[in-house]
Amino acid sequence: MKGNLYIIAGCSGVGKGTLIKLFLEKNPDIKLSISATTRSPRDGEKDGVNYFFVSKEEFKSEVENNEFLEWAEFSGNFYGTKKSFVEKTLAKGIDLILEIEVQGAKQVKEKMPEAISIFIMPPSLEELEARLRGRHTETEEAIQKRLEQVSREIEAGKNFDYKIVNDKLETALENMQKIFSERKNNVNG
Ligand code: 5GP
Repeated sequence: MKGNLYIIAGCSGVGKGTLIKLFLEKNPDIKLSISATTRSPRDGEKDGVNYFFVSKEEFKSEVENNEFLEWAEFSGNFYGTKKSFVEKTLAKGIDLILEIEVQGAKQVKEKMPEAISIFIMPPSLEELEARLRGRHTETEEAIQKRLEQVSREIEAGKNFDYKIVNDKLETALENMQKIFSERKNNVNG
């Protein structure tokens, strides 16, 4: 039986990275797709672990070769999910999570309507801005760019199958677990 494909998106700084990390620790059978990106690695990020860090030229040629299931420009950089990786993983019966932004999520849903989409909401916009600044990983200009995207992202989030508010991490984690269990039971039943 094929694995389930989950799309997880949410605004920058909403804490989806932490949420997914904890979720995967509790669910080691589920895989997280590693995307290709043209942005530079942040401190501590490793090629082939967090992302495949590629040049703009490499990315462009992979787009031309139709290697991506979806790709998008976000905050001045390109990000994309490899089609072959997704197909192979699902064919092995492994459940896969794509942690991608909303334009990419839309492309995947169009191509694979059976994919399950989950949008992570911030408790409030003020909280989101504080979290984004608290990371100290980006310049003010980069933060401003990300904040500009927020309302567009929340609007796009309305079309997702599920929404989780990441207020308390524990509760958000429980809600995520519920969605996955529900889907697993659906498939098996
Ligand atoms: P960051 O630069 O913070 O790692 O990621 C910026 C945004 O790009 C996040 O919303 C992240 O989910 C999204 N992203 C990461 N990989 C992909 C991808 O392969 N495709 C798309 N469309 N978005 C991605």
